[in-house]
Amino acid sequence: MTTIPDWFDPDRPQPHLVTELPGPQAREVLARDQAVTSPSLPRAYAIAPRRGHGAVVEDVDGNLFLDFNAGIAVTSTGHCHPSVVEAVQQQAATLLHYSASDFYLPLYGQMCQALAETAPMDGPVRVFLTNSGAEAVEGALKLSRYATGRQYVISFYGSFHGRTYGAMTLTGSKSKYHKGFGPLLPGVLHAPYAPASLDFIEEVLFEHQVDPSEVAAIFVEPIQGEGGFIVPPAGWLARLRRICDRHGILLVADEVQCGMGRTGRMWAIEHTGVQPDILISAKGIASGLPLGAFLARAELMEAWGPGAHGSTYGGSPVPCAAGLATLRVIQDEGLLDNATEQGEFLLAGLRELQQAYPQLLVDVRGVGLMIGVEFPTGEIAGQVQQAAFSRGLLVLEAGVNAVRMSPPLVITRAQAQTGLRLFGAAVAEVAADLQAAGNGKAEAGGEVAAGGAVAVPG
Ligand code: PLP
Repeated sequence: MTTIPDWFDPDRPQPHLVTELPGPQAREVLARDQAVTSPSLPRAYAIAPRRGHGAVVEDVDGNLFLDFNAGIAVTSTGHCHPSVVEAVQQQAATLLHYSASDFYLPLYGQMCQALAETAPMDGPVRVFLTNSGAEAVEGALKLSRYATGRQYVISFYGSFHGRTYGAMTLTGSKSKYHKGFGPLLPGVLHAPYAPASLDFIEEVLFEHQVDPSEVAAIFVEPIQGEGGFIVPPAGWLARLRRICDRHGILLVADEVQCGMGRTGRMWAIEHTGVQPDILISAKGIASGLPLGAFLARAELMEAWGPGAHGSTYGGSPVPCAAGLATLRVIQDEGLLDNATEQGEFLLAGLRELQQAYPQLLVDVRGVGLMIGVEFPTGEIAGQVQQAAFSRGLLVLEAGVNAVRMSPPLVITRAQAQTGLRLFGAAVAEVAADLQAAGNGKAEAGGEVAAGGAVAVPG
């Protein structure tokens, strides 16, 4: 389906800014927001989105942005994919809610079956549906303890698993996520993430802190998301799997950010040949409707019985309809291949940019459309993010010093080219500012051409 909404003019440049940023309407949105919303929300920059189509978002002032955030890796099929919208509209007019916890909702079973068919595990798989990533992490944590009868859990520094108590305790990326909330969940230990050696788990944690026979699970993001889009070296996850196998520990892959086709395979862990015991998904699973899931080897989920776990809304009809449509679109439109192709193109372009600014782009990394660019400091990463925004390109900081790109999987080559050009211009602006400020860090980098343009392919 290629339906284009009335408001979207395909001949208009993308992006296209028609007001200063934030514009007058956006300033009103910001003023109201700042008066009444929780200050805990970590706002990145002043965009007030009104509507979206594919990889393009329009704000309340009519400015068009190229969205390399996908609403934080959520709108996998693009904004308002017509097939997803149609499925949502039909379902909304048919049955808005019935709880699958206590009753038999047909769509719930269909969604579980469709997900189970994608599972990167041999053998039968059972699925539990949730409203969010954090809720899916909580469920996986409960299941890990329940099925093993063990209480300890290990996760990694740099990891992000969500904001609820268990998920927050597993999270090891920034201390501000824990500050003021203690005591956290007992029994959670952290180890350094890749590329650090996994020796730490065996030589430090198992020697000094916990006997491995008491460890229920190790939670790992196969590619770390919020922690900076960090890709482990070859063999790292396979060794983690071996450690788990040696001690009867469950391997839980949190694919909330890196899954659902983002890396060019349905699940990022498929790139490694490693099979998890439990896999967690959310974000891109339903193109923007609140849905999460954890998939487990059937024998694990068969350990618990009625009442052990449930959720009033988890897997309710409209998100399930969106999830089923999302899976169909990913398959029918070849979005895994597109993620690979456009991702390789973006990575190649960013590596050229890195050659022009070797002191500024400290690292360029990623798989498929999960791409991170590391800068010398978080401040510089923030400046690049802002300079991209001011040009109509939406990217988001990640980790300590990185900027992440996670565009919708439907992104076209032309949009990838535009994104590269704008990102290059943003980097050039920051390089020029640093030079002007007498900061030597940028000086060894590329020439800043007149107008702030920088040579990128395409
Ligand atoms: N796990 C990972 C890897 C995530 O990136 C996130 C959110 O960014 C979560 C879990 C939590 O998901 P949610 O925000 O839907 O609760």
